[in-house]
Amino acid sequence: MAFSRFSLSRISSLLSPSFVPLPSIRRSTPIVVRGFSLSATMESSSASLPPSHGTARWRPVCLYYTQGKCTKMDDPLHIETFNHDCCKDLHVDAAFFEHKQSQKFEFFLVLDLEGKVEILEFPVLILDAKTMAIVDFFHRFVRPSAMSEQRINEYIEGKYGKFGVDRVWHDTALPFKEVIQQFEAWLAQHHLWGNDRSGLLNRAAFVTCGNWDLKTKVPQQCKVSKMKLPPYFMEWINLKDVYLNFYNQEARGMMAMLKQRQIRVLGSHHLGIDDTKNITRVLQRMLADGAVMQISARRDLHSPENVSFTFRNRIR
Ligand SMILES: [Zn+2]
Repeated sequence: MAFSRFSLSRISSLLSPSFVPLPSIRRSTPIVVRGFSLSATMESSSASLPPSHGTARWRPVCLYYTQGKCTKMDDPLHIETFNHDCCKDLHVDAAFFEHKQSQKFEFFLVLDLEGKVEILEFPVLILDAKTMAIVDFFHRFVRPSAMSEQRINEYIEGKYGKFGVDRVWHDTALPFKEVIQQFEAWLAQHHLWGNDRSGLLNRAAFVTCGNWDLKTKVPQQCKVSKMKLPPYFMEWINLKDVYLNFYNQEARGMMAMLKQRQIRVLGSHHLGIDDTKNITRVLQRMLADGAVMQISARRDLHSPENVSFTFRNRIR
């Protein structure tokens, strides 16, 4: 299937100087890859990217690879065409550590779900709180449980067709229950969950942009998928609340935070894996500026539908 992920206006807005605060690398117009079954995500250089990365030619990320399903790793043409280093834009340099504070958590799990009716994409990135390095990422496309095939096709065409990743979605999406099982195995593999009887995360906290993902959407999806709410979704850090209290500046969404902090947007807004990376870049910047992350929302142990909020001053 031929595809193009980007409109010209979008490319020019991505290259707009207003998003390029620090010395960074201008990227030539992205390559449009045609006639290939793989899909792409646009990568651009980060404000915090070491200059040595600037000479590398831009390549779309292999979204089979991000889900552990790339079968062409030994195909030189495929490797040449698609990027298989998904975190290269998230490296930070030493200057970033000057104002950094010690953190209560050792790891942050940045999560940004996609899908209004049912969850369609479940990306999570582990950020090391001390080094600000990406430890690993978990990315799955999610197949709705209570929707007809026709409805799914229309839904996916509308949601992912414009990014040119509907083919990879259809090739890889799994039911939510399976995604959660794989996610739990992945958390356990990183020793972030599993031994504690409370069911909470170990040394880590989820970071989201807003309360919708974990307050609203996950419980809704659990109902539709006929499963219990996993215990590690009992508390989280809403980055927007910490942001408001730390900078004393209101940002209603990810794009506002990126713009206010003059961080260039990477990839396609509303492609979950790209949004997760961009939220991670805001988090890196906040840590670098000296913000201390703390839980902003907590479910009541006895009635988990009740959520209480830490900050009096918060984005509603
Ligand atoms: Zn690949």
